[in-house]
Amino acid sequence: MSVKMLSLLTPKVQAFMKNLRGFGGLDQADVAHALGHLHHPVAGLLLRAKYADDQQALLKLERRLIEEVERVSTEEHWRVHKPGLIRLMARLALIETITTMTCFACHGTKYRRKQDQDGRETGQMVACRYCAGTGRYRFTDKRCYTLLGIDRKSWERVWRDRYSAHILTIPDRWESIGLGGMRKRLR
Ligand SMILES: [Zn+2]
Repeated sequence: MSVKMLSLLTPKVQAFMKNLRGFGGLDQADVAHALGHLHHPVAGLLLRAKYADDQQALLKLERRLIEEVERVSTEEHWRVHKPGLIRLMARLALIETITTMTCFACHGTKYRRKQDQDGRETGQMVACRYCAGTGRYRFTDKRCYTLLGIDRKSWERVWRDRYSAHILTIPDRWESIGLGGMRKRLR
């Protein structure tokens, strides 16, 4: 891992460390070293793009994601009426994945206190519905269909579920693989 890479790691290193919780006493050099030895290349690209602001990694990652979404689209026999929609959805998923902003409702904890009909807390914890239990900042529906350039109806009826179930899960999985690999490396 070069010195340049190490310096790039600085701005978001706190968010990164938060995701690797439980590893007190690690410094940036340890993390940078582990990042350089990940076995899953795409997962490595994702971690670099997300936590090290690596623009080259981001471009490569975007290409890989578009390929992957195109593959899913063919497999699932999606009829895509709007040219470029696949590419836009891949980009949207990438933006949602690499943001290190946390969900405004659960503040990144993924759970919220359950309330009864009168708005009183029941003491139970439930998965946060605003971020679908990801803990991450998510765009609103309106923001999504506007960014994709499609109308609200086709977003709600067709594309929203496909996006959440088949597209957003791809970079999500890559991140889990990457973080898992990092944990192993840093053990
Ligand atoms: Zn949430």
